[in-house]
Amino acid sequence: MRVNDLKLHYPKAGVSTIAVHAGTYDDPMTGAVGTPIYQSSTFILGEDQYQAVEQGYARDRFIYTRYGNPSQWALQEKMAALEKTESAIVFSSGMAAISTTVLSMLDKGAHLIASNELYGGTYNFFHHELPSLGFSVSYVNPRDMAAIAAAIRPETMLLYFETLTNPLLKVVDIPALGKLAREHQLRLVIDATFTTPIAMNAIEYGAHVVVHSATKYLNGHSDLVAGVAVGARKYIDAIWPRLLAYGGCLDPHACFLFERGLKTLALRMKAHEDGAFQVAQFLENHPRTRQVFYPGLSSHPDHDLASHLFKNMGGMVSFAVGSDQAALQLLQNLRLMRQATSLGGVESLVSLPFNTSHAAYTADQRAQLGIAPGCVRLSIGIEDPQDLIADLAQALDRLPI
Ligand SMILES: *Cc1c(COP(=O)(O)O)cnc(C)c1O
Repeated sequence: MRVNDLKLHYPKAGVSTIAVHAGTYDDPMTGAVGTPIYQSSTFILGEDQYQAVEQGYARDRFIYTRYGNPSQWALQEKMAALEKTESAIVFSSGMAAISTTVLSMLDKGAHLIASNELYGGTYNFFHHELPSLGFSVSYVNPRDMAAIAAAIRPETMLLYFETLTNPLLKVVDIPALGKLAREHQLRLVIDATFTTPIAMNAIEYGAHVVVHSATKYLNGHSDLVAGVAVGARKYIDAIWPRLLAYGGCLDPHACFLFERGLKTLALRMKAHEDGAFQVAQFLENHPRTRQVFYPGLSSHPDHDLASHLFKNMGGMVSFAVGSDQAALQLLQNLRLMRQATSLGGVESLVSLPFNTSHAAYTADQRAQLGIAPGCVRLSIGIEDPQDLIADLAQALDRLPI
């Protein structure tokens, strides 16, 4: 297959150039400038394919779409280039990428250490599924390196963390985790959904595999559910047989949408960051709000670490309005921002942790994590920031005193 091997001709290509060009399939028949959609479940078998199956390199040939498809390959090349590593596999959801990756990196009876502020779906998988398969999990404060080190046992194999926590956007020290993993010969998997490869490449800091829910910023248009695992070829090659077994492959048409979304990733992330920064500044100066969290604000407790690690501060902002009742009223008052869970799309979305991501927690448990009553989470889209600010201003002004 002829893909655009950008590395060969432009080894110093910037991230926007990579996002546009890397991996694009050069169709020799038509000269199409984009990757065609290979909407085919299976491929004609010849000598070469039979040999690949027999000799164990079926991942490198087209045989059947769960095994591989040109639409997946193009996308995987682009993701590997964006994460500055060798290989990637796309999945039918972020959770398929996460569960398949984690299960491929654990031996029988292994222990893993994970953040105590994980994405809910990941927590459910770790808490309900892994123990029933004979694995054990310790949950630690992701900002406490001493506690993470202290949780290591002889049977520990894996560290699993997210780059930014939800909803308070605590910045996790990925380089320190990479160092710890190296010292103790542990594997490190990082969920970089909230930061994207535009902000940081966790593999450069010692992560072995980076996973993303592509449903969010990578695709960026709230019209697709997908996931991806990225890393050195030897790790991704070990994930691939599990993909075959668990079955979470990505459909070719979804690959097309995902690849199209990725082309504007750098551009969109700039707009998300610009809008989120302006909205965060507005909220910080508004009398009705308290506890505004945005890593790009100098008031954020992890601002220094974020400035050191991230080339882009992203589009997530959270703040509190004093009570969950007031937060519910605020949502009713908003006219432009839509009430929906999920994040990372071109349209701004708003949700409340107390009745969505953290509904299973008691008010005390939420307080312990630092989630104040009336906490509101914003995913800032790419609209004109002044329109978002005007919407928030009118919604805050109409809250009862
Ligand atoms: C949404 C999300 C996931 C799950 O991804 P799906 O595509 O919904 O399966 C995992 N991790 C994080 C941080 C997420 O935000």
